Amino acid sequence: MSTVTELIHSIPVDPLTGAISVPIYQTSTYVQEAPGVNKGYDYARSNNPTRETLENIIAQLEGGAQASAFGSGLAAIDAVVKLLQSGDEILAVDDIYGGAFRQFTHIYQKFGINVNYVDTTDVANVLDGITPQTKLIWLETPTNPTLKISDIAAIAKIAQQHNILLCVDNTFASPALQQPILLGADIVIHSATKYLGGHSDLIAGLVVCRTKELGEQIKFIQNACGAILSPFDSWLVIRGLETLHLRVQQHSANALELAEFLQAHPAVDKVYYPGLKTHLNHEIAARQQSAFGGIVTFTLKNDTEDAAKKVVCNTRLFKLAESLGGVKSLLCHPATMTHKSIPAEKRRAAGVQDSLIRLSVGLEQAADLKADIIQALDKLNKAVQEPRVFEYQ
Ligand SMILES: *Cc1c(COP(=O)(O)O)cnc(C)c1O
Repeated sequence: MSTVTELIHSIPVDPLTGAISVPIYQTSTYVQEAPGVNKGYDYARSNNPTRETLENIIAQLEGGAQASAFGSGLAAIDAVVKLLQSGDEILAVDDIYGGAFRQFTHIYQKFGINVNYVDTTDVANVLDGITPQTKLIWLETPTNPTLKISDIAAIAKIAQQHNILLCVDNTFASPALQQPILLGADIVIHSATKYLGGHSDLIAGLVVCRTKELGEQIKFIQNACGAILSPFDSWLVIRGLETLHLRVQQHSANALELAEFLQAHPAVDKVYYPGLKTHLNHEIAARQQSAFGGIVTFTLKNDTEDAAKKVVCNTRLFKLAESLGGVKSLLCHPATMTHKSIPAEKRRAAGVQDSLIRLSVGLEQAADLKADIIQALDKLNKAVQEPRVFEYQ
């Protein structure tokens, strides 16, 4: 059976009523027949049938043994770091999600967990970066916002040889395009806020573990620390997952079309998209992903904040907002938005140039999205910026 059919039918029909949609068990506790005698549920922080359904579906989708659903992507990351002890070290991709960097730096450093950031697009840097204290390798592939690609299978081999856990943040690709556990990773995390939820209407996080043993450790941490996903939000993610493959295929097709178009536009300098043959690790991406995802970034020949602002303030379909992975197209200017807190020199060195623009390509018709970008880029040649017509549609 195909993965898509399996996914759709892994969402169970309610045995009590036959309801085809998963029931939302909005309860805090469960009545027991006698002390300790219950139907497998005792308190809703520990277990909830709606959340459990989501956890089972994502475990299956990622090829893992067990999963846990959290209140946000950052809560999922937090649970994984709590597997470590003071004195342990994390070796992490340098172009890491800003929120993960903040958590590692401002929360975990004071508990004695240090992070060594390296450019993991070259496997040699991973080998060089490992120390006797390294207990966890942290990858994102593709990364945000420059869409760097790292070789999951090669790094998994190194991690196994050194007895180090490998965790991959699979938010950008989603299991519809890439399954890191099947390539050798021990843990996959998600911000389900993005493609898994898929409709820009919730915040959620997931941890999927290759082994039941590791899954139980995460479940213990989740119950001990309490950052669970609510039954209603679990239901919303389940509903999003029903159309995951369909959406991600279309996001990817639209993004590829836009990336190719941008590459040929005279006002555009560089285009970052793993689906382009010019991308540094295109071949690795083509090997480990079935398509290249919905995020495209580009820089302008006029590499200034002003030029980028002119573009992002003049699109009509692409809405100016942080986040990604929803039905509606979004765009943002990392230098003044998501990456504002990073000093300019450091930010530029990481490839986030002043004019870099990130597109989260939605599910509109590609031709309409192209026309929107064309008219916004055309405004670059006009001396006066037209006031933005801010429409809520
Ligand atoms: C958004 C995001 C996160 C954090 O997830 P939240 O749900 O916002 O807490 C982590 N990793 C990546 C790659 C993200 O894009």
